[in-house]
Amino acid sequence: MLFKDFVEIVKKLERTKSRLEKINLIVYLLKNLEPDEIGPAMWLLTGKIFPEYSDLKLEVGWSSVSKAYRSTRGIVSLVERKLTLKEVHEYLRKISLIKGEDSRRRKQRLLETLFVSLGQDELEYLVRFIFGEPRVGANEGLVLEALAKIAGVDIETVRKAYMFRADLGELAEIAVLQGEEGLQKVKLELFRPVKPMLAEMLYDVRAALRECGGIAAFEFKYDGIRLQIHKKGDRVRLFTRRLTEVTESLPDVVKLVKEHVHAHEIVLDCEAMSFKNGKPVRFQDLVRRIRRKHEMGRLMRELPFEIRVFDVLYLDGRILVEKPYKERTSLLEEIVDEELLIERIITADLQEAKDFYQKSIGLGHEGLMAKRLDSPYMPGIRGKYWFKVKPAETLDLVIIGAEWGHGRRRGWLSDYYLAALDEETGEFLVVGKTFKGLTDEEFKEMTKRLLELKVREEGWRVWVKPQIVVEVAYSEIQKSPKYRSGLALRFARIVRIRYDKSPWEASTIGEIRRRYEEQFEKKAKISS
Ligand code: ATP
Repeated sequence: MLFKDFVEIVKKLERTKSRLEKINLIVYLLKNLEPDEIGPAMWLLTGKIFPEYSDLKLEVGWSSVSKAYRSTRGIVSLVERKLTLKEVHEYLRKISLIKGEDSRRRKQRLLETLFVSLGQDELEYLVRFIFGEPRVGANEGLVLEALAKIAGVDIETVRKAYMFRADLGELAEIAVLQGEEGLQKVKLELFRPVKPMLAEMLYDVRAALRECGGIAAFEFKYDGIRLQIHKKGDRVRLFTRRLTEVTESLPDVVKLVKEHVHAHEIVLDCEAMSFKNGKPVRFQDLVRRIRRKHEMGRLMRELPFEIRVFDVLYLDGRILVEKPYKERTSLLEEIVDEELLIERIITADLQEAKDFYQKSIGLGHEGLMAKRLDSPYMPGIRGKYWFKVKPAETLDLVIIGAEWGHGRRRGWLSDYYLAALDEETGEFLVVGKTFKGLTDEEFKEMTKRLLELKVREEGWRVWVKPQIVVEVAYSEIQKSPKYRSGLALRFARIVRIRYDKSPWEASTIGEIRRRYEEQFEKKAKISS
């Protein structure tokens, strides 16, 4: 398909408000794409350029894009032929592969070659794709419905397949090229990471016990890094919650798995952390270690990782995700040495659960996870099966803009616009602003990263591509006409930078509205 025609469809998608019409347009698009264009089309449509787990990153800043834009405007390409979607995507891939010395200039040159071959509309949309905002009117939900329609199956079949094939591009290929049969066959496979199962937030242990049906498994909630372990014999691979492979950075974890996991083929879910003088090491420091690929020996000595395993998804040819929690964890106890297992109790006794909670907090952990004993493992799902109970209330928000600081913060982008995802439109809407919570080092690094993501400048304000997720604590949610979201956080403060989360995993406007309502219920309960 010509890139020009793809852009025309995207424009229509953006214009139409009707859900059904949008789905039909996506179906039409899918039917008219070449097989190897299906992936790129779905990524671009849903605000990505490459699949989430991919190592490919475009890494071009606003200044390179705008320079390339300016230097190519008015130049008429001698090439008459229009570029196809595949060709445009191939350019982006090549740009992302440019690394090392002089890469900025080389990337810009390639951008210019690409830009010169595009018409005005194509160029404008390409720039929007590159900066990922706003999503062009098609979200994940719509794409899944379009896939169901094209394969002639119900939405549940598609959702199920999506659990195990977390990449929309690849899933779309299966739906279009193999139809129902292909989708039915999508299962958990060794060395193909799935999205981790998630938990809902609850205020206290009592509520957790009630939600779990009167009896629950309570586990320590570590403030570490989620890791999915895939092992076959001596081959071990590790993946983060964004499905990025981190095996190379964590040889100590690989060693632990080889020594303490007694199964030939297995997929495990665990939390990785490190301790210094008996206290858990800060999340930021753990992330820093994972991102490093050099000086491994020194890092391993300074910050040795440990793991606490809490689930098993696959064992020697058996897929276990549909088995109840209790059965999975019994297997786990047989296979994994005790020192790697998460601290856990199963109880119906409120006092016992409360004591366990205090124990976890006392040791410097985040709180507890409460899990239903009959719960299946549902990849990527935040359902009513797992609950996190922790003292501080936080949201994961995306920085979409920042202001230059004054006084001591001069020279740093230090006041941040925090946004939540509007799940209806795919836009990021501001719900608050803060300059609190980061260290000087972090301000410096954040300034550098934000400038790389710059999209537009307005006086002392810089708008950026929504990419950096921060965990934000606040005292209260208020209704406010100040922001388009209609909501504002009081006393927002950044607790930490969540490099392990993608912007699409940010808290949603719906969730913040729900918490707003819950505030009143809680207050009513306290005063009654
Ligand atoms: P949070 O922001 O509270 O850390 P999250 O947004 O990263 O959570 P949630 O699903 O909301 O993701 O909380 C679960 C996270 O807690 C998991 O992703 C995992 O990294 C961590 N965790 C720590 N201990 C456990 C445990 N025992 N079971 C499951 N997850 C655990």
